[in-house]
Amino acid sequence: MSATTDNLSAILYKKNDLRLEQRPIPEPKDDEVLLKMHSVGICGSDVHYLVNGAIGDFVVRSPMVLGHEASGIVAKVGKNVTNLKEGDRVAIEPGVPCRYCKFCKDGKYNLCPDVIFCATPPIDGNLCRYYTHAADFCYKLPDHVSLEEGALLEPLSVGVHACRRAGITLGSVVLVTGAGPIGLVSLLAAKAMGASRVIITDIVAHRLEVAKEIGADDTLLMGKVSTEEAAQQIEKILGRQPDKTIECSGAEPCIQLAIQATESGGVIVLVGLGPPKVNVPLVNAACREIDIRGVFRYANDYPLALSMVASGKLNVKKLITHNFKLEETAQAYETARTGAGGAIKVMINCLKE
Ligand code: NAD
Ligand code: ZN
Repeated sequence: MSATTDNLSAILYKKNDLRLEQRPIPEPKDDEVLLKMHSVGICGSDVHYLVNGAIGDFVVRSPMVLGHEASGIVAKVGKNVTNLKEGDRVAIEPGVPCRYCKFCKDGKYNLCPDVIFCATPPIDGNLCRYYTHAADFCYKLPDHVSLEEGALLEPLSVGVHACRRAGITLGSVVLVTGAGPIGLVSLLAAKAMGASRVIITDIVAHRLEVAKEIGADDTLLMGKVSTEEAAQQIEKILGRQPDKTIECSGAEPCIQLAIQATESGGVIVLVGLGPPKVNVPLVNAACREIDIRGVFRYANDYPLALSMVASGKLNVKKLITHNFKLEETAQAYETARTGAGGAIKVMINCLKE
């Protein structure tokens, strides 16, 4: 296969049926760029599509290219593109909204009902050699920011958006529940935005060790204690209750704990997406004027995430635990699925050797 026609792509046909196949190299439309793909991180949702063939109402009904945490190098520009040129290294914001609806015009384009989002059925993702994307949803990386860091701007933007929604600022005292990749990027973003203290919980000790290494002030391994007891432990460790809580597990006990642990008048943001219905002490939250806010992906957060990385305010590189080549996609997904070897972020390199 010659380098100019090779577009090896990781295609999910259906549940547990992931194939590496050739697809034609696409032509960029007038407002698009053709990207030679570089780094693509594996997200929990990619693994979920592979294992279950669906997430909620989004069902894989026809073959779909996986991958949405990505970066690449501009190989060709459409005729209207002025912000990028061939050779630019870019981070790819994977959701392109309609730009016309009420939500888009209001700046909340993450809520656009017509958003086209990589690797959300039936839209193809970018775990392939060549991929086209709207040029204005590609962010040029400064020379000293790596393409791996560029790919990590995707989960980091979730953390940045969560912290903005929570109103994290100088001196915030923050509880993060769940120390998976999303909890960890939320921790990094909260610290970089000025939080004076961040405590993070999980049920897996290793994840808390990683959290400590990347800057958590305190950790709490959730054992067999009740959520009320855990809330008391958190208050004891911090010497006060947290004023902001970022829920990043989707687990019912964590949402309960978030309400019990947060200071009156504080804010909880729900990033974790668990079962559709959960049982929570809502009256407790109401009587203590706790604001509970939703978080859906990100909007206008890539530029901030990039400037935080570029300025050295935070370091996302430590989240990468494993690296694979595109040809090793099956192995990469198996590592992400099982969490083998303490996997946090598994990164796939799409460049041909
Ligand atoms: P993950 O599964 O790697 O991390 C979840 C962590 O929570 C794990 O480390 C797990 O051990 C921990 N956990 C589970 N039960 C717990 C409990 N009872 N107490 C403490 N910790 C517990 O997933 P992730 O990739 O980090 O994503 C986290 C969540 O965020 C998922 O629900 C995902 O769907 C969601 N998510 C939401 C958005 C959004 O836009 N809202 C974007 C990305 C991911
Ligand atoms: Zn829209």
